[in-house]
Amino acid sequence: MSEAFELLAQVIDPELRAPITDLGMVGDIQTNGQSVRAQIKLTIVGCPAAQSIERDVRAALAKGYAEVEVEMTTMTAAERAELKQKLRGDKPVRFNPFAQPGSLTQVIFVGSGKGGVGKSTITANLAVALAQLGHKVGLLDADIFGYSIPGILGISQQPTKVDEMMLPPIAHEVKVISIGFFVSDNKPVAWRGPMLHRAVEQFLTDVYWGDLDYLLVDLPPGTGDVAISLGQLLPGASSIVVTTPQSSAATVAERSGAIGLSTGQGVIGVIENMSYLEIGGEKRELFGSGGGEAVAQRLSALAGSDVPILGKIAISEDLRVASDQGTPAVVSAPEDAASQELMRIAKLIAARPRGLSGKKLSLGVI
Ligand code: ADP
Repeated sequence: MSEAFELLAQVIDPELRAPITDLGMVGDIQTNGQSVRAQIKLTIVGCPAAQSIERDVRAALAKGYAEVEVEMTTMTAAERAELKQKLRGDKPVRFNPFAQPGSLTQVIFVGSGKGGVGKSTITANLAVALAQLGHKVGLLDADIFGYSIPGILGISQQPTKVDEMMLPPIAHEVKVISIGFFVSDNKPVAWRGPMLHRAVEQFLTDVYWGDLDYLLVDLPPGTGDVAISLGQLLPGASSIVVTTPQSSAATVAERSGAIGLSTGQGVIGVIENMSYLEIGGEKRELFGSGGGEAVAQRLSALAGSDVPILGKIAISEDLRVASDQGTPAVVSAPEDAASQELMRIAKLIAARPRGLSGKKLSLGVI
């Protein structure tokens, strides 16, 4: 292996997270004493990562050569086909890796009865917290009508399309796919059941997720078509139910957990959000109390096993501001009480015994 090639092996493709030398992205290399000329082949024309790859390539080659010249080109269709084959392994095109009996990815649906209870905020922060704990995490924003994950995670980049394969943008080490990437100008999504089913199915089959430890799914509120489709497409998923302490929220939240139970999903637990506001050391329960407990009790009765409360998250200005600014609070305000509670919940989730998806595993830690 030439020295230049070895230097290039240090350059990691930001979307595929593998050395460019393994991905067939390095073309012709010519060296002449202290000078090197390397050809780099991007997956597609206009690849959004082009600039950062070129910068990294120049920096890597500069470690061995005084004079560096880089030619950025694009793979041929045949080279692209070879790359896709390498990524996919022996799996067929349009393959849903999470529905396989041997899948080791834990798929977690985060649902709520109604909107506005903080489901997306919690999903995004839990995903990032799990990634901070060293896990490989994907986040599927299936809240088709109210998608907000790209904003919360500050993603403005579209997925890169390599023919039919989509490479998800990565934010805070979480791979993210959202319907928000595919609608222009904030247009409303007015799709009916079959189209919704096809869209969420493509998010599972056409996205290059790689090997994930966790796939978190931000469900639309309620118990509609998308939740049912996803339940069929991801039969091994378990769910987390988010509610506020208010009894009106709790009653509808229970229904969303119940639909999961009826389709055979285990419920990991309940998260109560906006539980209290702390002012001057005093905790004020602005939205009342008891919603989390009520949902946990009713779901325990339905499930016939203990459904715990995973945590209670304070009303937090830091959490809200962080989401509005596109950097989740577990990153931008880790000291905040809500961030700490979210991190604690992420650790509980990570502490669940790992097993083949589809098996119901109880937490046993609360
Ligand atoms: P949902 O996904 O349930 O519709 P969101 O996550 O979009 O809800 O949250 C709704 C709004 O409430 C957002 O503006 C979010 O920043 C804010 N929010 C969520 N949880 C909290 C909290 N614990 N404290 C303060 N604001 C919160």
